[in-house]
Amino acid sequence: MSGWSHRHVLDLASFSREDFAAVLDLAQQFRSLPITGARKLPALQGRLVATLFFEPSTRTRSSFELAAKRLSADVMSFSPSSSSLSKGESVLDTARTYVAMGADVLVVRHRSTGVPQQLALDLQQMGERTVVLNGGDGLHSHPSQGLLDLLTLTRFFSPQHPMPEALQGRRIVIVGDILHSRVARSNLWALTACGADVVLCGPPSLVPEDFAAFVDAPPPGLLKDPVPQRGKISVVRRLEHALPGADAVMTLRLQKERMGQQLLTSLKRYHRDFGLSHERMQLCGEDVPVLHPGPVNRGIELSGSLLDDPRVSLVEEQVRNGVPTRMALLYLMAASESATEASLVSSSS
Ligand code: ASP
Repeated sequence: MSGWSHRHVLDLASFSREDFAAVLDLAQQFRSLPITGARKLPALQGRLVATLFFEPSTRTRSSFELAAKRLSADVMSFSPSSSSLSKGESVLDTARTYVAMGADVLVVRHRSTGVPQQLALDLQQMGERTVVLNGGDGLHSHPSQGLLDLLTLTRFFSPQHPMPEALQGRRIVIVGDILHSRVARSNLWALTACGADVVLCGPPSLVPEDFAAFVDAPPPGLLKDPVPQRGKISVVRRLEHALPGADAVMTLRLQKERMGQQLLTSLKRYHRDFGLSHERMQLCGEDVPVLHPGPVNRGIELSGSLLDDPRVSLVEEQVRNGVPTRMALLYLMAASESATEASLVSSSS
């Protein structure tokens, strides 16, 4: 854990392979502990975690709150509908209110790209020690989802040793609305960092050709990619060509609320061309797993019977893995903060 250098967790583009391994290792340990309502770990005792979700959420928010409680943190949550946002308060002033109440961690979700990053910067410039964890910003990034997907896949391929190398050389197909998906973007950084080759499949309006070069340049804000060698990304238009040879298939919701205009001629046609079903999945071979970050539009991205089939559907497993993954993130952030505090104390004494 000594190599962990992320004060805030805002994206996965700046993660090295060692960072991914650190999260997977801890998450795996947390997953195997018999932690329930009454049995908690003391790691975050006395710390305050605030979830500021300016956009709706079912899984991410409750999963972060449960993770924080299982580490004995106090938890506060903010809801835009019953807050002073409607009275014109800015996001920064809302965040400062929680900081003034002593929040150590802010988990922030916002419909606009860059809001958690800006908040982290503003708070840092104000001399605040509060750390920011991105709970999903616009189309940009959803780091905790990318990490829980990584845990789900590495556990599937290597249950005893779910580490990044379990993905080396695997072919992972991501189908659907890549353009509007922060989940896809986080997965692209995470999967290629672990050596997987990613095939993106969908119509040109949802999967622009230039996604093939998504990880080719150093991540924004960095001079050098922290991962020396990544897997490759390719764009394939037809599902029939993308699925053969796949080791896992992830499908994404059609994110209509993020589309500026009508991008599909019909949902029926989309389902016909890109919807997953048992029949379609036979193109991959036996029992290839299916993932979906949720919320799912049953019968559009995938058939209800595929979604509910425990032999191949990892959708509930993804939700289950969300809690230990977020515990790992909170733990690492708290640990690095304590290390900073300790070094500040020792350097000033
Ligand atoms: N829950 C994920 C997100 O917040 C995926 C989705 O909304 O489709 O991006």
